[in-house]
Amino acid sequence: MALAKERLMREALARRQVLMKTQRIKHKIIVLSGKGGVGKSMVSANLAMAFASMGLRVSIFDIDVHGGSLPTYLGMKNMRLILKDGKIYPAEGPLGIKIVSSSFLLPKEDQPVIWRGPLKIKFIRDMLRDVEWGDQDIMIIDTPPGTGDELQGIVQNVNKIDGAIAVTTPSDLSIHILARSIGFLKRMRVPALGIIENMSYVKCPSGAKINIFGENRAEKVLGIPILARIPMTIELAEPSQNPFLKGNLNSENAGIFLEVSDKILNKIKYKQ
Ligand code: ADP
Repeated sequence: MALAKERLMREALARRQVLMKTQRIKHKIIVLSGKGGVGKSMVSANLAMAFASMGLRVSIFDIDVHGGSLPTYLGMKNMRLILKDGKIYPAEGPLGIKIVSSSFLLPKEDQPVIWRGPLKIKFIRDMLRDVEWGDQDIMIIDTPPGTGDELQGIVQNVNKIDGAIAVTTPSDLSIHILARSIGFLKRMRVPALGIIENMSYVKCPSGAKINIFGENRAEKVLGIPILARIPMTIELAEPSQNPFLKGNLNSENAGIFLEVSDKILNKIKYKQ
């Protein structure tokens, strides 16, 4: 009995500590997808770089333990959290972006990750509570595909999520699986801000667009607005070609991300 009470008190204290840390981050946005491989990490990374290019203080919390490709899109390799004077600080990414990724804590790339649900939730809570995130304008939370423990852990532990961006390709399979995640958001009362349709089209050298799957299918099926359509392009697949990392903000693809970031700021009623 006494042990149960002690556990409950410890839980309550941990929750309060997480709350105090996350209150210093003005806005928190989840990026999710129904399926893996649709470009969710690519979108999270480029949204973060677009927000940072607008002068916002941006952090990324990457909790996609099994996928974990986000640091690569930021041109970061072998990054670790920073330990200083007994405190833990996020790694410093490009454009001043602060990043905590589960991949920083994992064994070598070729070793499997065997984390069960409670351990994933503990990782989320510990990182939110113990890392010195500082005062931030926006935190992007990159979640694993689907509606597993990590997504529930983040929604239950962060005091206020402003909303979620859903990433899908225009294929039927990806869209229909995403419907489950949208249902989850409704149940958890997290606003679905909109869809980013990735690998939406290919642009020919002539400038013509080829819509491989037709247009705006996700919007029709899911009933949520499409905020952006992203082409299939090497600029977004390879960090060495990325327009934000190259400082090429006039490029068409940087423009797409800057525009969608602006739409998101409007949707969450961002104030300076
Ligand atoms: P997820 O996080 O959904 O698993 P990733 O962001 O890791 O997916 O992307 C999956 C693969 O598709 C990667 O190899 C990535 O480089 C590629 N990719 C994603 N988006 C695009 C795009 N718009 N154009 C070209 N390649 C892309």
